[in-house]
Parts: sequence; structure tokens; C-alpha cells
Amino acid sequence: MPLLQDHIAVVTGAGSGIGRAIAAGYAREGARVVVLDINEKAAAETAREIRDAGGKAESFALDVTKREACVAMARQVADKVGPVSILVNNAGIARRNGMLGAAEAVVQDWEDIIAINLTGVFNVTHAFLEPLRGAKGRIVNIGSIQSFLHLRTPSSPAYTASKHGVLGFTRALAAELGKDGVRVNAIGPGFIETPLNEKVRASNPELAKTFIAHTPLGRAGQPADIVGPAVFLASDLSAYVSGTIVMVDGGYRTV
Ligand code: NAP
Repeated sequence: MPLLQDHIAVVTGAGSGIGRAIAAGYAREGARVVVLDINEKAAAETAREIRDAGGKAESFALDVTKREACVAMARQVADKVGPVSILVNNAGIARRNGMLGAAEAVVQDWEDIIAINLTGVFNVTHAFLEPLRGAKGRIVNIGSIQSFLHLRTPSSPAYTASKHGVLGFTRALAAELGKDGVRVNAIGPGFIETPLNEKVRASNPELAKTFIAHTPLGRAGQPADIVGPAVFLASDLSAYVSGTIVMVDGGYRTV
């Protein structure tokens, strides 16, 4: 039997990159997938690809920073799709101004990154809590190597703070929701080739080489590399796993 048969899975930021790969992977394992993204067209494209491959998916536009919209979306999904049992908080952005950049840019980065990468995770989780508790659900939050350290790739203090926050939130939720049978874990991707880092890869190929040289597996990751761990954390294979982070970084943090 497919590993996620009879589950309804919500994936945020699923119009692109890692989220799109997870959504497709969950559908291959039998889940009905709710594809959410700020970009309505991209979300619809992911859902169409899933359906064309024989899976079950619908898509909706959602900006995770809009708390009321998240609550309304949870109602809409309950009415139109059914009770959600898996939530993947994947939507995220990266900006690369350090603290010493132009003040306006630094402040804007802080506000946008914290609003999407951290408050967005809270907003969507809070909105979908009821069905997740009812279903002894599973929550998978997308962290980063930067849930533990700062990378000078370059990256911003806001991004590092947001991903540390995602890990802290994961632990707090796991502690509080365990009694309801809800499991909450994170995934820490390493350097994964997606549109998120397209610009920096194009403008600074040396950076990717340096990163890969530090990675024991000796290559950049692809969105498909995240799918297996994401299926594991959403399925019964991980029935006694909660409050942890699975690093999918080619071993980056070991050396
Ligand atoms: P991506 O290809 O840019 O996909 C992210 C998706 O989220 C995009 O479709 C984006 O839409 C959407 N999004 C942005 N703001 C949103 C909002 N307010 N509400 C809803 N959706 C929103 O990036 P990715 O590399 O797959 O990243 C996915 C997650 O993995 C992020 O949390 C990222 O921090 C994390 N991560 C990535 C890497 C990596 O190397 N790629 C490493 C560690 C962690 P737009 O394109 O329209 O903005």
C-alpha cells in the first residue's frame, strides 16, 4: 500500500522547487495534495502536473503572511477537500544583505523574511491545528543548515534567525501536541538547486564550488533529494519520531 494513502496533505510554497517536489512525492504515495503558493499560476501548474501523473491535487493561492487568509483557507480546505492530516510548512524566501548593508534594505529583509519564513509557519500551523489534532496529524517544517549556524554565502541575519526560529517552533509544537498524537519535525536542506538560489549560482559559480567542496557527498542537492525524508516524516515509518530535524545536506555539517 502507498505510504500516504487516505491522507490529505497541505504543502505551502508548493509552486516551485522543494515544495513542488514534496507535493508530487506525496501524491505518488497516495495522498490527496492541497498545493498552496502565493503564486496562483505556479500552484495550479504543480497541481496539474500531479493530476496528469494520475495523482490527486487541487491548488489555491495563499500568502502565508496573511493570518486571516490562512484561517479562511483552512475553512475552505475543510469544506472543499476534507480534514487535513499532513502539513508541510515550506514557503520561504532568502535575501542576502548583511547587517551592514544599506539600512533600508536590511530592515526590509528583516521584516519580509521573518514574516514569511517564521510568522508564516506559525500562521498556517495555527489555522490548520484543529484538523491536524483530530487526525493525529504530522507537521513537517522546512528548516535549513541555518537552523544551527550562519552561512556566509552570503546570507542575511534575518534568514539565519528565521530558520533557528523554525527549529525552536518545531520543538515547542512537538512538546505541546505530542499528547494529541501529533508529530512535528523539521527537515534541514543543504544547498539545493532551486529558483531560490538561481541568481547567486549564476552570478557567483565559485560559491557553489566552495559549498560543494565542503560537502562530503560532493554535489549540490536537488529538490528530489528532499522527497524521501519528507515522505518518511509524514508516514507511519516515523511513528515514534517527533521534535527533531532530519538534515538533508549531503553531510555538510559533519565537517
Ligand atoms: P523556491 O523555489 O523559491 O520556492 C519557494 C516558493 O514559496 C515559491 O513558489 C515562492 O513564490 C513561494 N512563496 C514565497 N513567499 C510566499 C508567501 N508569502 N506565501 C506563500 N508562498 C510564498 O525556494 P526553495 O528553494 O524550494 O525553498 C523552499 C524552502 O526550503 C524555503 O523555506 C527555503 O528557505 C528552504 N531551504 C531551501 C534551501 C535551498 O538551497 N534551496 C536550503 C535550505 C532551506 P515566489 O517564487 O512567487 O516568491
